[in-house]
Amino acid sequence: MASVIPRNAWTRGGPDKGEINPMLPVHWITIHHDGMDSFIATDYASCASRIELIRMGHRGKGWADIGYHFVIDRSGRVWEGRELCWQGAHVKNHNEGNIGILCLGNFDLQKPSAAQLAMLERHTRLVMKQYRLSPASVRSHREWPAAATACPGRHLQAKVGTIRRHLA
Ligand SMILES: [Zn+2]
Repeated sequence: MASVIPRNAWTRGGPDKGEINPMLPVHWITIHHDGMDSFIATDYASCASRIELIRMGHRGKGWADIGYHFVIDRSGRVWEGRELCWQGAHVKNHNEGNIGILCLGNFDLQKPSAAQLAMLERHTRLVMKQYRLSPASVRSHREWPAAATACPGRHLQAKVGTIRRHLA
């Protein structure tokens, strides 16, 4: 995935390899928002530090690394999160074979940008192809049974059905 910004561009922290599991065969892709304060910056440095903030938050919960595998910012850049060789930590009880894609921002408070939505769709399609998945494999966080979360926020959730239709 040549257009993905490598994680060493935004962090020096590697995963805690004592607390991480290898990725199992991939069957799912899950879409998230970060759910923090609203975030409109598009410059490289601000996006990099937001991702590092998220990683530190996840490490603070005792997790091995940032929970998501990819991060998409408002300008449509794709950043590498947790390496794909490792199982993620982004849907409680459903992390096995599940690739997490995070869109930076809080989409209860703001709308995703057009560039961000376009790249979310494009990158999801790329991941689907790589793992031979169908659009039915693509869920938002709140679409998981028993998921007690507002993620990915109402304004992004409103786009998920359209994205799935485009992917079909
Ligand atoms: Zn989520």
